[in-house]
Amino acid sequence: MTDVPFLETDNLRKRYNGTPALDGVSLCIERGEVFGLLGPNGAGKTTTLRIIAGLLAADSGTLKRDGRPLDTTTPAYRRSLGFVPQNIAAYPELTALENLRFFGRLYGLKRSALEKRTAELLDLTGLTPRQHGRVDTFSGGMKRRLNFGIGLLHGPDLLILDEPTVGVDPQSRAHLIAQTRALRDRGVSVIYASHYMEEVQSVCDRVAIMDQGRVIVCDTLRDLLQRLDAETVIEIPATTAGSLDTIKPVVDRVEHRGDRIVLAVRQSDDVGAGGIGPAVSRLLALLNERGVPVLSINTRRPDLEQLFLRMTGKELRD
Ligand code: ATP
Repeated sequence: MTDVPFLETDNLRKRYNGTPALDGVSLCIERGEVFGLLGPNGAGKTTTLRIIAGLLAADSGTLKRDGRPLDTTTPAYRRSLGFVPQNIAAYPELTALENLRFFGRLYGLKRSALEKRTAELLDLTGLTPRQHGRVDTFSGGMKRRLNFGIGLLHGPDLLILDEPTVGVDPQSRAHLIAQTRALRDRGVSVIYASHYMEEVQSVCDRVAIMDQGRVIVCDTLRDLLQRLDAETVIEIPATTAGSLDTIKPVVDRVEHRGDRIVLAVRQSDDVGAGGIGPAVSRLLALLNERGVPVLSINTRRPDLEQLFLRMTGKELRD
């Protein structure tokens, strides 16, 4: 059996008023994974998702599902797809239950199936106690959870989440992340777009990082993070600058910051956060020998933020 990706985009291009929003986006999403689309605002995540969902036509490029050209307009594809948009889809003047019933009917769910499914989704989203509350009285997190539930009503096997946790409280965020994982564990393939690096790192199996309409890197989370070494940063007083000549050969970077000197050492061995690898031990021994006091010591584990910085020269949070 050949390993054909569940969903592929090949060289998607899209321009708005002559300006490229997507400049050749090629992605492979595997069946039953949470695929992360990470990038700053304006990177092209929503445009990519809307094209995959069949809500927007690309200027050029193709989509494939199970290795075959994908027609996003077929009822079968529509039935298999759940799209949770950035904007809240729920009607504010209706209750949570009324919204689920309304959208469920749109999806063609009939009486007993509809009642069963709405009850399941109220439970899954943690909204059962507030099912009779109007949506305009809900917190941002509750609205997002309902939005999530609406996208799941018809039991899709591909779920697209566009910034599902913007403006939510930590509890709702944790809930949405846990439910996303649970869906993946039940075999649902999920595309998860976000500009929150920590979130993508905590929920996604594979990640594509986008910037300015392009995919700059795509790999498993583990392999992406292995491209970077952990870095330990040690601060010493600026008054000890005289010792730098003997210290420099064992550090990777030296920065002068006011009354402090920052010494950075890359640790290719996986010593974990706060761990001391051989390179750092050597530096500490040397500083001790030279009588140089250590003001602080900090180890930073590699993260996607660092990778983005390394590849684009700018911060993800810009
Ligand atoms: P965000 O999270 O801010 O939505 P994004 O990564 O999802 O960011 P897109 O919304 O896909 O990015 O936008 C990509 C680029 O296309 C941006 O420069 C955006 O301004 C532009 N763009 C998106 N939609 C339109 C539109 N309808 N008309 C004109 N330009 C658009």
